[in-house]
Amino acid sequence: MRFDLHRHLEGSHSPQALAAVAENFGILHPVFFDPEHRRFRPAAELRETMVMPGPSDDAQVFYACIQRARLAYVSEVAIGELARRAFLEAARECDGFEMRISLFSMTRTLLENQKVAWREVDPADFAERARTLLLGIVAARDVAARETGKPMLIRVGFSRTFESEPHYRAMATVLGEHRDAVCGLDVLGIVPGPDREPMPAALRDILDGLRHHIADLTVHAGEFEDFRSVMRTLELKPQAIGHGVRAVHSDETLAKLASDGITLEVCPCSNRMLIPTSLKALEQHRGCAPLVALQRANVHCVLGSDDPATLGTNFADEWTRAGEAGANLELLEQDVARRWQQIAPAPRKKR
Ligand SMILES: [Zn+2]
Repeated sequence: MRFDLHRHLEGSHSPQALAAVAENFGILHPVFFDPEHRRFRPAAELRETMVMPGPSDDAQVFYACIQRARLAYVSEVAIGELARRAFLEAARECDGFEMRISLFSMTRTLLENQKVAWREVDPADFAERARTLLLGIVAARDVAARETGKPMLIRVGFSRTFESEPHYRAMATVLGEHRDAVCGLDVLGIVPGPDREPMPAALRDILDGLRHHIADLTVHAGEFEDFRSVMRTLELKPQAIGHGVRAVHSDETLAKLASDGITLEVCPCSNRMLIPTSLKALEQHRGCAPLVALQRANVHCVLGSDDPATLGTNFADEWTRAGEAGANLELLEQDVARRWQQIAPAPRKKR
């Protein structure tokens, strides 16, 4: 089965979906509405500002596209509709998938778009807004899953930007109450400065507590930082690592990943777009694509599209690219099945 096991909702809003939602919800922000001609911008026009034009090592080019798309987060209902469309579009590219939602950033953005100073919102009230958002996204998922008959899981991501500990803690409490709706936790986001993949101690503590309810953890690492970032991430005992491709520079790290049975969620198209220079160095180091090197080192690998709408890619291309690079597709499918077993809810026994 070809499941997309690393995909973000915020990077899955296509220009078509954004154009439709902007018009349906009357979003008059100049990003979506052309005041001069008094018309909503069509998808083709949105593509110019919401999709990366080409590879760039500057992550800001990518984030600027994400931030523009987020301007459509004007209400819970609008987000629910964007989510429904994103789930349906994802289903067209694969047999099933796991969608990551950055619940904190989505809630914060919604408040900002509604001109509410989110830091002044009581953490408990903030968490209630997050709950409403989560339930709306789950409902959108259920509609899309029924319509397509494809399995869809939701993972909740915590950004390492970690803007407010009280707000994160309150959100974590609410999330624990919805453990059945979520297949796992994720740590994502990069920060400026010498260490772009830090793990704040307080965030680690929040995750430790929450994992009593939601055990499966994935962490983005070894994408913008090197193999040492992967090594320290392993201390958290995650089940999988997002990207982690820069582990191929270290035999020790590869051996540890293999012996611990950690899955690496490899996103070849995303690497090509977001870390083109690092990718070239990795390819030169081993004389092959990172995915191939990882498989040769007996590291379990699955494929993900990451942010296909923003990157202008498609999950089907990931398999094509993996095959062209010389990856063992049979092994890949086995590892996808293994990982899916870990995160998909066990089928309910019939009485
Ligand atoms: Zn990612």
